[in-house]
Amino acid sequence: MSDCLFCKIIKGEIPSEKVYSDELVYAFKDIHPMAKIHNLFIHKQHSHDINAMTKDSPDQISDVYKAILKWTQDEQLDSTGFRVVTNCGADAGQTVFHTHFHVLGGEKLGRFGK
Ligand code: 5GP
Ligand code: ZN
Repeated sequence: MSDCLFCKIIKGEIPSEKVYSDELVYAFKDIHPMAKIHNLFIHKQHSHDINAMTKDSPDQISDVYKAILKWTQDEQLDSTGFRVVTNCGADAGQTVFHTHFHVLGGEKLGRFGK
């Protein structure tokens, strides 16, 4: 999608700090990290939010989670633990409407909620 920030990041039109890439998935460091490790995993095909992805292209969810599996194993986060968060819509505070999966870790995380 031409006016989507994360599509521009995938195309390299906006710089990002890549941590992972394969044929289907791209991952990069969040510009405002909320934990020692805070990366964003996105599918290279645009979708508006997680519900749209689930309805229209459910295979993309496993594409992203397979990439998260590979990356967390490579970084040995699978043994220490990590968190995956997807905000959907206004109350969750979704600000970028290209479905993304926050991967947080590298330290003991607090509980989440309000
Ligand atoms: P959301 O609030 O939609 O769940 O998450 C969007 C995330 O994208 C935020 O954590 C925000 O810091 C991050 N973000 C917004 N713009 C950019 C950018 O230009 N580059 C990077 N690396 N992250 C961004
Ligand atoms: Zn997009």
